[in-house]
Amino acid sequence: MSVGSANTETARTGTADPGGALPIGRFAPSPTGRLHLGSILSAVGSYLAARAEGGRWLVRMEDLDTPRVIPGADSEILSTLERLGLEWHGEVLYQSRRAEAYSDALDTLKAKGLLFACTCSRTSLVGTDEATSTPRYPGLCRHRPPVFERGHAALRFRASTDASLVAFQDLYQGYRQEDVAATTGDFIALRRDGIPSYHLAVVVDDAAQGVTQVIRGADLIDSVPRQVVLQRSLGLPQPRYGHLPLVTEPDGTKLSKSRRSVPAGLEAPGALLLRVLRLLRQDPPEALRRAPPEEILAWAASQWRPEAFFGALGIPADFPG
Ligand SMILES: [Zn+2]
Repeated sequence: MSVGSANTETARTGTADPGGALPIGRFAPSPTGRLHLGSILSAVGSYLAARAEGGRWLVRMEDLDTPRVIPGADSEILSTLERLGLEWHGEVLYQSRRAEAYSDALDTLKAKGLLFACTCSRTSLVGTDEATSTPRYPGLCRHRPPVFERGHAALRFRASTDASLVAFQDLYQGYRQEDVAATTGDFIALRRDGIPSYHLAVVVDDAAQGVTQVIRGADLIDSVPRQVVLQRSLGLPQPRYGHLPLVTEPDGTKLSKSRRSVPAGLEAPGALLLRVLRLLRQDPPEALRRAPPEEILAWAASQWRPEAFFGALGIPADFPG
């Protein structure tokens, strides 16, 4: 954080942070549709984790995957956050406007010999889902001569180095350890369609925004080790990580697609917040039943007890409602 931005922040909120020790959290939705119950839980959880310690909470639009982006979804998401009283600090960062930063990061990795061109087709590598669990890349292209022309090949990060073992203490899920070289292997840094990978964009943006704690859904916990090896290779600081439980079906199974696409009930923002707090086992008192969102959030931030859901990867939703 620069001195300038710290001063502006002090003037705006009246909370001084001379040492820069207060946490900076963020919520980073993809504008591919409306927020659903699970994404609202992530927004609320990341907000409370930052505000409970008097920190700042930023919003970033992860709109790089242009074929999936829905025009207008970003403003709908922002107005949902506003209705819920989830006030963010500063400007919303759009990944689609950050091409230069990603290109610089790729150049850094390239200069270190950590990228190689991969021409493997998606079908030759079964079920590649780069955001979540990915089968290990078999290394088919890693020993071919380096070719970096765009448009023909993806660029993969060379994970098999002596720095691929990652251990971290997740704030909500506890100790985790993974050797990226052994699990995912070399992973995509630049997709063959020219779009930077989720992992690359996230680490570059978290560092640029000064994010010190990444609080998000547990479906992304498997991406931490890849993001940490990228941070190490790019010389970026490693934030703290906390993965919130996912909202599941009442029987504990993965939330169905139809339910995930149902936007949560915004006609009563206070009731929706209370529902999310109950899902996070925060036990909001009955007295808050008709309180405005701001009052509910202020109570929740003052009482934030993440230990109430510690170790939970999923929480059954109380459908319908
Ligand atoms: Zn390949």
